[in-house]
Amino acid sequence: MNHVTRRGVLRRDGFTCAYCGKSANTIDHVIPRSRGGRNTWENLVAACLACNSRKADKMLAQLGWQLRVTPHRPRYGGHLVSGLNHIDDSWDVYLQAG
Ligand SMILES: [Zn+2]
Repeated sequence: MNHVTRRGVLRRDGFTCAYCGKSANTIDHVIPRSRGGRNTWENLVAACLACNSRKADKMLAQLGWQLRVTPHRPRYGGHLVSGLNHIDDSWDVYLQAG
């Protein structure tokens, strides 16, 4: 009962890009799905579109990037995100893009 949603990740990270600190409105897989990354709170971070595009399916080490924050499961439990458990139209796009 703590589903990962795009909005949930963005809210957790304060709509701040985990890579450059700018305003974020996308999410990114730290470990790309093509490399076995999962759709988990620990593997998803808020990212601006520029970073998301540059990172693509690369690992952070390849880019010399570091996370500004350590992704974690949010403390506020499920109730604040429970209304967001529906899949919004853009969700699949971002999952595929990560
Ligand atoms: Zn960024």
